[in-house]
Amino acid sequence: MIMSELYGSMVFDDRAMAKRLPKETYRELRRCCENDIPLSLDTANIIANAMKDWAIEKGVTHFTHWFQPLTGITAEKHDSFISPTKSGGVIMELSGKELIKGEPDASSFPSGGLRSTFEARGYTAWDPTSYAFIKDGILCIPTAFCSYNGDALDKKTPLLRSMEALNRQGVRLLHLFGRKTERLNMTVGPEQEYFLVDTSVYERRKDLFYTGRTLFGARPPKGQELEDHYFGAIKPRVVKYMKELDEELWKLGILAKTKHNEVAPAQHEFAPIYTTVNVASDQNQLTMEIMKKVAAKHGMTCLLHEKPFDGVNGSGKHNNWSLCTNFGHNLFEPGKSPQDNAQFLLIVAAVIAAVDEHQDLLRISVASAGNDHRLGANEAPPAIVSMYLGDEITGILQAIADGREYSRRAKCDVKIGVHVLPKFAMDSSDRNRTSPFAFTGNKFEFRMPGSSQSITDVNVILNTIMAEQFKLFADELEGAQDFNAAITEIIRRVMNEHGRIIFNGNNYSAEWREEAKRRGLLDLPTTIDALPLLTSEKNLKLFTSLGVFTEAELKSRQEIYVEKYCRLMHIEAMTMLDMANKEIIPSAIRYKGDIAKAAKNSIAIGVGADDECEIASSLALLISKARAAVKELDRALGSACALGENIEGGRKYVDEVIPAMSALRAVCDELELNTAKEYWTMPSYGDILFSVH
Ligand code: ADP
Ligand code: MG
Repeated sequence: MIMSELYGSMVFDDRAMAKRLPKETYRELRRCCENDIPLSLDTANIIANAMKDWAIEKGVTHFTHWFQPLTGITAEKHDSFISPTKSGGVIMELSGKELIKGEPDASSFPSGGLRSTFEARGYTAWDPTSYAFIKDGILCIPTAFCSYNGDALDKKTPLLRSMEALNRQGVRLLHLFGRKTERLNMTVGPEQEYFLVDTSVYERRKDLFYTGRTLFGARPPKGQELEDHYFGAIKPRVVKYMKELDEELWKLGILAKTKHNEVAPAQHEFAPIYTTVNVASDQNQLTMEIMKKVAAKHGMTCLLHEKPFDGVNGSGKHNNWSLCTNFGHNLFEPGKSPQDNAQFLLIVAAVIAAVDEHQDLLRISVASAGNDHRLGANEAPPAIVSMYLGDEITGILQAIADGREYSRRAKCDVKIGVHVLPKFAMDSSDRNRTSPFAFTGNKFEFRMPGSSQSITDVNVILNTIMAEQFKLFADELEGAQDFNAAITEIIRRVMNEHGRIIFNGNNYSAEWREEAKRRGLLDLPTTIDALPLLTSEKNLKLFTSLGVFTEAELKSRQEIYVEKYCRLMHIEAMTMLDMANKEIIPSAIRYKGDIAKAAKNSIAIGVGADDECEIASSLALLISKARAAVKELDRALGSACALGENIEGGRKYVDEVIPAMSALRAVCDELELNTAKEYWTMPSYGDILFSVH
């Protein structure tokens, strides 16, 4: 198929709608989407019918409302178009009502007490700004998922609310600059890292199978130390995979753009071209699903876990985020006129204030059991939030704050609203790759998110904390006598109060940890340190005042995330016990037994058996250490379970279960290094990391 036919062929996108809908209906739909007003049932009926006809032409028989419950993955329930006629036949139907609203029996989705199971009904509502698409022969209609009281039960609803909040405040602020902006959009391009391993090795590793990461594994003789994988030539099997992945994504209207090898062996990266955040978020969920499916077709397994291998780089998801007006003006592009520059600097100041003021929320937005292994592991940004602006912009803002001349490259006294900024040197070579939140020329790149997480969480936070700053700035500027002086004053204040969040140095260094402490920045190493802060007074006020979460919604989310953490840790600990008891210790015992037999035979024929005896006794020692570690993990797990799936239980996992897991792993890895390969039932790190040729 030629590209122009392939691209978007499985999406009921703008082109398809323009072609298939009556002009009136199409115009009405656009009007509703652009102004955020609900569709009338008549319009919905016409769209539903056209959508169904389009899908049937492509062999589709079923449809589903496709949504993101709080599990973090997507959910679907298929219904056929089939409908009986009076004459005993059938017709294929999709009504407007079915298009715009669904009622899945949702009793088993996590709701954190928002909806008790006897009141299972929730409803899904079409988000017409994200196009319907066909996946596996099913027409998927992207929706938001709410309870009958209107509580958000999904990840999409708060995202849409946060977009609205930021749009409202952003437009207000831009109008003060004399702009005619009607709508402010948030654009996101997520870079997705992942591993590919051969399915034959994956299936023989219970830890990968149950938890997505290895819980045991001695380091292989060769890992990533030569750094020969990064941007290296891609192996033919992976090339084929990437090609098919691109095609599948293009069919779905996803602008798959960049692909390359990453630092670790078997690690790769994928990036699409950016788009509006709610669409980007749907598309990223879809991308992750398709990455796994296409891998399976090629006999490989795609690992999206944040830290599949110890001692080898983990995977993140860089959230490139920007703000764009309906006229296509990116607010993070410094402008050509003095007034543009004033606006740019003010908006950057809003980011500085937002990030500093809400370090806790940004940290929480990326908190997960998987990501805890990655953040701060000398490969990813630390669990401390800071931001990189580069020396040029930092220098200009600081000069404004200090009321002095800015003179680094261009000698100029930057006066707000009077001067054009010097051209920034924004070439990628001097970008800071270690910063958790970096300005990269015309967007901010948030590098803390984990590879498996939905990007909705981080964007809800980014949008909300920016909406708050825009609101505060607009409130202040609306009453200002001298507009430019008021902007200068705001920048001065932001730099004085929040300038500590700017750090242009190496975030991976130990000195930064110390420095961050001196600056009073938050350091929340684990999910359990971070999550309690979600429902602080300050955060409740932020979210409720901007209409992003109600108090009940926020509390329910906190409950669900803590519960999820405890459950994941429980599964990991159980998997370790299972593997140690059923595979690792038995393998070592068998090997020791055979060595002992060999020793006996040697002695019987009068040959010395010193070496056999030495090996057998060191194995015996390791085996008993392993058994002791199993008992300790069992005990720690019991005490965590006894506390329940709450913050206290979570704390127990952090303080006792995780150290017990590490201790068990250490001795088992030692056993692996000392047991002959033929006795070891599990594929080794080397076998897994180099399994795809
Ligand atoms: P890197 O050098 O970090 O790999 P790229 O320039 O290749 O960065 O871009 C990475 C991602 O950022 C891509 O998904 C790209 O589409 C996205 N991106 C570029 N401009 C914007 C923008 N204005 N808003 C949001 N995302 C953007
Ligand atoms: Mg990047």
